[in-house]
Order: sequence, then C-alpha cells, then structure tokens
Amino acid sequence: MNEVWLNGRFLPADAANVPVFDRGFLLGDGVYEIVPVYSRKPFRLDAHLARLQHSLQGIRLANPYGIEAWRKIALELAARQDFADQSLLIQVTRGVPLPGQPLRDHAFPRDAAPTVLVFAQPLVPPAEAQKAAGVCAITAPDPRWQRCDLKVISLMANVLMRQRAVEAGCAETIFIRDGLLTEGAASNIFVVQDGTLCTPAPSTHMLTGITYEVVLELAARHGIAVRVGEVTEAGLRSADEIWMTSSTKEIMPVVMLDEMPVGNGRPGPVARQMDALYQQFKQDVMRR
Ligand code: PMP
Repeated sequence: MNEVWLNGRFLPADAANVPVFDRGFLLGDGVYEIVPVYSRKPFRLDAHLARLQHSLQGIRLANPYGIEAWRKIALELAARQDFADQSLLIQVTRGVPLPGQPLRDHAFPRDAAPTVLVFAQPLVPPAEAQKAAGVCAITAPDPRWQRCDLKVISLMANVLMRQRAVEAGCAETIFIRDGLLTEGAASNIFVVQDGTLCTPAPSTHMLTGITYEVVLELAARHGIAVRVGEVTEAGLRSADEIWMTSSTKEIMPVVMLDEMPVGNGRPGPVARQMDALYQQFKQDVMRR
C-alpha cells in the first residue's frame, strides 16, 4: 500500500482521514502544490517550495514546515511509493476551528492547526504520439479572481473551464482578460510569432509555472529569441505556434484554436526544439 503524509506522519492512504469541519472541505480555504518526481527525485523542488511559500503568504497562513523539513517529507514519501515517476501533491488548509469557535465562519479561526496532506500518484508523461499530433484548445474570457498567482485549492472557475474544454473534445481552455492572453485553465501558454517565443510576464493574473520558468531558461541558454510581455488576443489567434506547458503536460503543441488551425495545423519547429531541450534537461537533472 502506498503511503501518504498527513499531519506529521506517514500512513496508508485508506487510513488517512480529514475531519468534516476542515476549512479546506467547507470553504476551499487552503493552497496546494504539485511536484513532478522522476526516478524518485523531485524536479525543481526548491522552486515548488518557494511557490508554496508564496501561496501560503498570499492567504496569510504560516508555513507549517521549513524547507529542510519539506524536503525530507517529499523524499521520504517518494521513497515509500511502489512507482518511481510520481506527481506529488502537497496541500495545506487552514484546518479545523478549535472547540467553541464557529464551524463555518469565513473569518480565520483562532489558533487552528493547519491540515497538511502530501500524497503521490503515478506520473505518466505525455505520449509521443500526442506530442506529434498536438492538441486542440478553446478560448474563453478569464472568469477567475485577481490573485491567480496563488495556487489555491478553491478552483471552481478552473474546474468549469477545463470541463468546457473536455466537452468540446479539447485539451485546454485558454483565458483572455481585457484583450490579453493570461494562461490556460491548468497550464501556461507560449506562442511563436515570426520565430520569437512570446509569453505573458508573471503577474497576479497567472500562475508562474515551474515549467514556464524552465522553458524561459532553456530558451535563453540556447539562443531562442524571447519576448516576455503582453500577448494580445489577435496575436494569439495569428500565432505560428501555440504551446501549453505544465509539469504534467510538459511542452504540448496546440494545433487547433477554437476550431481554426494554428499555423499550418501541425506542431511547429520551435515546439519540437523546446521539447527536445526539455527532455534533455530532465535527464541531466535526474542523473546529477
Ligand atoms: N497555470 C495554472 C492555472 C496551473 O494550474 C498550472 C499547473 N499547475 C500551471 C499554470 C503550470 O504550472 P507548472 O508548470 O508548475 O505545472
């Protein structure tokens, strides 16, 4: 049985329970992080832990552990799974109000201990055939709040928009806010315009993906022209290439947008180059 970490100890998943009055359950009051693990080695763990810290600070919840404690939990949890490539989920909620306090007050409870859950699922990288074919996406006005830079568990808008994509037979919904590209419902978006890789700059309207950061580093290191800044809706629609990026989707070419072909309707050369660089980078990091 694969084990999970709950509030300070490892235990079998089917023995792990969270009280019904947990604010994560009642109010969606918490944050999460997803860390890819290859051959039981967490990928870019420090960056994920820094983003977790940013999310916790954003919801004014103290980080229950320091970096070293998190690292130990992540490594030990990864070691306790019977599969080597993993998607590790970390979730921290504002916990259960102490006795005598309201059970469902929006305002913070006093002195509640946070609930900390960490578990792993098998990580299956995107199939080569899917990368070679590309995926389709739809667009929608960005319906989310103003702090999309925080990885909060209250994901109603993302859930509904991802489902809309699935029902359209597509892989992703790409958001437009005030005429500008923000990101996907569960990914960051890059476009290639006349050989230049363009993507929105980090802001409170998007989550800065760890994959996004790796892609920008690789582009800089390998001489790919990059422009980080506004991408207009018109720029998105006329792009030669569109990709979605995330820890699980890696570099995934979008070949149809709102039923119109992107570029020539096939994954482009810059996507292929970046995917090769990304796969190499993953290998190098894991071998180290
Ligand atoms: N934006 C959103 C809204 C996401 O849910 C994700 C996936 N976590 C990303 C971007 C990509 O982040 P990462 O590259 O760290 O997986």
